[in-house]
Amino acid sequence: MAKISLVIPCHNEEAAIPVFLSAVTPIMDGTGLDYEMVFVDDGSRDATVATIIGFSNQYPNIRLVELSRNFGKEAAMTAGFSYATGDAIIPMDADLQDPPELIPAMITKWQEGFRVVHAVRRSRATDSWVKRNTAMAFYGLMEGITDVKIPANCGDYRLMDRAVVNAILSFPERNRFMKGIMAAAGFKATQVEYDRPERAAGETKFNFWKLWNFALDGITGFSTVPLRMWTYLGAIVAFWSFVFAGWIVAKTMIWGVVTPGYATVTSVVLFLGGVQLIGIGVLGEYIGRIFAETKRRPMFVVGALHGFGNRGVAPVIPIDQAAASRGGY
Ligand code: UDP
Ligand code: MG
Repeated sequence: MAKISLVIPCHNEEAAIPVFLSAVTPIMDGTGLDYEMVFVDDGSRDATVATIIGFSNQYPNIRLVELSRNFGKEAAMTAGFSYATGDAIIPMDADLQDPPELIPAMITKWQEGFRVVHAVRRSRATDSWVKRNTAMAFYGLMEGITDVKIPANCGDYRLMDRAVVNAILSFPERNRFMKGIMAAAGFKATQVEYDRPERAAGETKFNFWKLWNFALDGITGFSTVPLRMWTYLGAIVAFWSFVFAGWIVAKTMIWGVVTPGYATVTSVVLFLGGVQLIGIGVLGEYIGRIFAETKRRPMFVVGALHGFGNRGVAPVIPIDQAAASRGGY
């Protein structure tokens, strides 16, 4: 019988876990398939671990991968994938913002032969104005400057065949921008649509700064356009500086030397100084990530495993080869 693995990264989700379990288990039982719920505790400081372990008698399908500290959602998901044993794997948020009611429809599509079933949001009505618009700008930009096709209005919620997850785990990079990696894996995909509800319990673990770094991880991980654009920008500036130089020579020959262009010089110098610093900053973003990649640190460290039985479960990829994230969301 086919087995489904839910992978649920949790960071301070003690309030959400009970609601999650009581909503998800009847649906999973209803599928008639074998299943497991692989919770990944991402360094919670509340009672998340105790809550999950406390429920494991009542819900024998619970597995728990306890990370040794907070590694960020992307690394936590990767950890979950590497311990999941299902034929299909579904990453889900713990807060029920990824409605479990979609799972049967996703499984049906999977059984029809699709390797990936994206859960796509019909609208972003439950997002704030700022989040809606920054997300739109981000996905628009990613569409323009990367080769991977990241589906719009799609979170991490999706069903993936074992083959897809194995492909994802074979990606060696430490920068785990999972939306990009999942898109880069490819495979025949389809989608189901849904309306994203508000968080069931607890509060969001995201803040502006985390999201900004998340966006930078996405861009630098999947595009070199920010690096290469400086060549063209430099060429444009150089071209106009020649034109400007020509104009000054002509002006001097016709009218002679007039009062020195103090304002012009200052603004040109400041402008170019700013442009150069931005260019260096962009280089820094990439070099910092090259640094993180070359250290080849593990992308997550497992503190403890629960519910895998005595045998324990070797991850699909050995942990010391797994990729590291900088711990960003
Ligand atoms: N999460 C995590 N590690 C983190 C931050 C978040 O594992 O460092 C988990 C969190 O527990 C939740 C999921 O990632 O299950 C999505 O987080 P959240 O709901 O706070 O994000 P939002 O829906 O507000 O974007
Ligand atoms: Mg949420």
